[in-house]
Amino acid sequence: MITVTTRKDLQDYLPKAADQSIGFVPTMGALHQGHISLLKRAKSENDIGIASIFINPIQFNDINDFNRYPRNFEADKQKLERNGCDLLFLPDYEEIYPGKEIEWIDPDLGYIEQVMEGQYRPGHFKGVKTVVYHLLNIVKPARAYFGKKDYQQMLIIKSMIRVMNLPVEVVPCDTERERDELAMSSRNKTLNSEERHAAAKIPMILNEALERLKDHKTQEVKAWVNDQFLSDPTIHLEYFEILDQESLKPVDRAVAGKTRLFIAAYPGKIRLIDNMLYKG
Ligand code: AMP
Repeated sequence: MITVTTRKDLQDYLPKAADQSIGFVPTMGALHQGHISLLKRAKSENDIGIASIFINPIQFNDINDFNRYPRNFEADKQKLERNGCDLLFLPDYEEIYPGKEIEWIDPDLGYIEQVMEGQYRPGHFKGVKTVVYHLLNIVKPARAYFGKKDYQQMLIIKSMIRVMNLPVEVVPCDTERERDELAMSSRNKTLNSEERHAAAKIPMILNEALERLKDHKTQEVKAWVNDQFLSDPTIHLEYFEILDQESLKPVDRAVAGKTRLFIAAYPGKIRLIDNMLYKG
């Protein structure tokens, strides 16, 4: 695996032949099996697989979250190398945002960026759109791989690519989970044992809510989920939504293959998100 830190070096290593496709996996590092599954898919569907690691400060609405974010570049490099990554782009801040002013990329995508993460993390998606645009512009992949773990983010990136007419295909990838079904996340590494225990409630409640949707209206299931968290001091629920997975609009009755459950919760100081599809 080749590691490059500058745009210029990256250009030197990018394939020159037009028929060589690049599969790109942008990450913020502290890599786990979720990231690796994206890389494997990128490798299997393209001629070369490129990953980037860049902890994008402008998408953190909370400075403590940014400071706490796990950093483990050496272990990351080894994982990428072992899993067949051809090229790692490891830029510093200046490389992505040269000059005094950040070149913000902020197309108005309407309602889908105003709910959930948009509502609770002001400015977050503006930072995500900006960094993804610049990374795509530098790497110029045929396909870019994003996890459904961050489902709303994936929808927003898809929408940005559509409205800006960018020549890249977004490939949504399934969520990798721990044995107790907690969605893998770099932030899991920062949980202490009590927080980790409390975090297991997230997939447990999502699974139980999926069961209940079979014979309850969404409002009833929402009320039930809220109760489960109100009675538990170890984890704080920020939001739980039952939405159409394309429009992100609430639905009255769940529809198999179309309705998705979304959650954000704090098992302690750390904020975790997850979502699951209702399959009937
Ligand atoms: P991050 O490093 O958290 O910015 O994530 C980089 C990419 O990996 C994003 O597209 C995420 O959605 C994806 N990702 C994160 N966690 C998982 C997971 N558990 N399973 C699959 N993809 C994931």
